[in-house]
Amino acid sequence: MKKILVLHTGGTIAMQENEETGGVTTGDSNPVQQWNTLVSEDYDIVSDDFLQLPSPHITPSHMLKLFHHMNERLQDTKAEGVVITHGTDTLEETAYLLDLLHTMELPVVLTGAMRSSDEVGSDGPHNFITAVRTAASEKAKGMGVLIVMNDEIHTAKNATKTHASNVATFQSPQYGPIGLITKREIFFHHQPLQREHFHAEKMDKKVLLIKTYAGLEGDVFQHLISQPLDGVVIEALGQGNVPPALMEPVQSLIDHRIPVVLVTRCFSGVVQDIYSYQGGGRTLKEAGVIFTNGLNGPKARLKLMAALENHLSRETLRKCFERY
Ligand code: ASP
Repeated sequence: MKKILVLHTGGTIAMQENEETGGVTTGDSNPVQQWNTLVSEDYDIVSDDFLQLPSPHITPSHMLKLFHHMNERLQDTKAEGVVITHGTDTLEETAYLLDLLHTMELPVVLTGAMRSSDEVGSDGPHNFITAVRTAASEKAKGMGVLIVMNDEIHTAKNATKTHASNVATFQSPQYGPIGLITKREIFFHHQPLQREHFHAEKMDKKVLLIKTYAGLEGDVFQHLISQPLDGVVIEALGQGNVPPALMEPVQSLIDHRIPVVLVTRCFSGVVQDIYSYQGGGRTLKEAGVIFTNGLNGPKARLKLMAALENHLSRETLRKCFERY
């Protein structure tokens, strides 16, 4: 019987609705602990209540602590797979940072729920069972950190929460899921081409994420970047363009050796140095902005925070963002 390590961090999957107030929050005990019996005939489950937080309270430092805790527990339990339960709001961020840090082949699967544990049609127990089955699957080895929700398997890098309340919320725009789960089987139909890793002792670099919009003014941007900063990620318009007023402050950041990473604010597609008007992708590239693809803004921010812990040269930093 395979041993699976289950680490709980909180989120709706571990919450209940208060009958009097109607508010959904954590109770005295974690209901997910009771679900071990749902899988105990087939798997040897070792579980820890590592955190009990709504996921908007999770920080990159919590994510790093979770990674260290997971490795310590893997050493003493000798588990062959890991399931992490997590609130869905920031689940993709924790999954992605773990993916950057986790170098082993051993499967790590994150799951959550859109409906609290006592709600009719709660998706928690089912997601928990399918996550355990995936973490125990030989086929999941070497696939990187995975997200299992609603009978689909997604990579941490590509998946994003696309709906505020629907149980089919996690999707991988442009890429699709890499596998699916049925009553009897776990199927993988894609495999990540490359994986990349960083070592991080801390996750406290100050990196801002700024979304662009029509009419974003230079002084608003200047105000946002006026405190001490280690890096900036910009969610640009379309194929990688920003309002013209941003050119000057962006250039000044780069002149002060603060890396500026560009992703698109679009749901799909890539940033490229196409347009040569003021603020166009070509002018940004010439100014020294780093373009990156396949990541949304929050994930590019985590990657920049992790990369900055490795004291890379400007050129190496650029390459590690531009090669994917
Ligand atoms: N707000 C909740 C959280 O992320 C949502 C969820 O778990 O689905 O903790």
